[in-house]
Amino acid sequence: MEFQAHQIRDILKINYRYTMGGQSKFFIELMNNKKLLGTKCTKCGKIWMPPRINCSECYEPAEWVEMKQTGTIDVSTIVWYTTSAFIKAIPYGIGFIRLDGADTAMLQGIFSENLIPSKVKKGKKVRAVYQKEREGKMTDFFFVPEDEYESWIIKSEYEGGSE
Ligand SMILES: [Zn+2]
Repeated sequence: MEFQAHQIRDILKINYRYTMGGQSKFFIELMNNKKLLGTKCTKCGKIWMPPRINCSECYEPAEWVEMKQTGTIDVSTIVWYTTSAFIKAIPYGIGFIRLDGADTAMLQGIFSENLIPSKVKKGKKVRAVYQKEREGKMTDFFFVPEDEYESWIIKSEYEGGSE
């Protein structure tokens, strides 16, 4: 008799936790105090944002520093295809943003009330806006063109960062 495998379709549900390890402080300060923390190399002084625990250039430890809430777009694009988590937001901008004072750039969403490419292009000034309900995740904040900041933070679900 020929072998026939019997198959059953089932669902595997897994609850789990993971840690942000040495970068935990960034997410805790984001969630509790609406601050953006980078790190500064104790040897060469390079300011990493997103933060690195050790400098990737000279391998020395880096210490926490509070960053400005404002920055400049280094490069960007407009997102039309995304995961279920962001589908309601499309189209939206995404870009590498160099916070004022930082030596490196972070990838983050850029929202605009009137999204046209010139709103999110290289060289544009942006400012961080926070969700009122925060979980200590990258989705707790996003950037908006600096001239739209006031109109974003008066919305009931968002607020401005601490300076
Ligand atoms: Zn260094």
